[in-house]
Amino acid sequence: MRFLRTYIEISNICNLQCTFCPEVDREKKILTPENFRKILKQVLPYTEQVCLHLMGEPLSHPEFKKILSICDEEGAVVQLVTNGTLLAQYGFDTFFNAKCLRQINFSLHSFKDNFPGKDIRPYLFDILTFSKEALTIRPELYINFRLWNLAVANEQNSENDEIINHVCEFFQVPINERVDARFGKSKNLTGRIYFHFDTRFRWPDYGDPDQGEKGFCHALSQQIGIHADGTVVPCCFDKEAGIPLGNVLADGFENVLKEPRLLKMRDGFQKKILTEELCRKCTYIRRFDKVAAPSVPL
Ligand code: SF4
Ligand code: SF4
Repeated sequence: MRFLRTYIEISNICNLQCTFCPEVDREKKILTPENFRKILKQVLPYTEQVCLHLMGEPLSHPEFKKILSICDEEGAVVQLVTNGTLLAQYGFDTFFNAKCLRQINFSLHSFKDNFPGKDIRPYLFDILTFSKEALTIRPELYINFRLWNLAVANEQNSENDEIINHVCEFFQVPINERVDARFGKSKNLTGRIYFHFDTRFRWPDYGDPDQGEKGFCHALSQQIGIHADGTVVPCCFDKEAGIPLGNVLADGFENVLKEPRLLKMRDGFQKKILTEELCRKCTYIRRFDKVAAPSVPL
């Protein structure tokens, strides 16, 4: 078994509270650097990349720099998703010096949601200045400006206009090309810097309507998640560990991957059968309705 991404939740605490992001009911938890290293060492043989979140804002971890240095020491390839509000507080070099970092995704949709009416320019300035410096200091670093707040796929929200204009002006994107940025899923701005657009999604909830047992998703074939207390979950949507598959710290990752519940679920996805109640309530998988289940060794 080898995953494209493993989501390790270094903290389930966020410094913001977006209206579209449900609060975490679990106990507030921060993964200690020692336990992070224990988890990382076990996970690395099974994953291409590590994402330092599941719920929560990774930069709000009080020992985030130590977490990054552990990733460097252990040879991890890291993808970071952040709202970007704490970026300047760390100093850009924290990120430029972290050789483990392959990609940073800035959730630009979070700012206006938390601070409606507030001037967005200082927030954008930090992120854009960082990105511009990255072009020369770390040109191999992928940077995504996420606007995952569309109501309809490929149709831009007018509320994004201000952000799109500021970003395009900063990178001197010609006016005629700015129109392109309003449509489609992704728009290259320069180097490895992109806009990335997507529709708003809803975390699945046991109270939601049952959609039947047919369906497929990439959980347990391409991704797996680990909560800040070590609990393994199938995907980054299982925010309350409704499908606990074991605990890395208590049981060991290798043993968790042999758990009958995990194998049954994984096998079910291959056959397009949803074995878990939470999955039958998950609207996110409708995105994969037309995608053939990949053939992966069980
Ligand atoms: S979406 Fe991101 S920034 Fe917003 S509350 Fe959730 S974790 Fe925090
Ligand atoms: S169907 Fe939804 S809840 Fe189930 S594993 Fe996939 S993303 Fe997670």
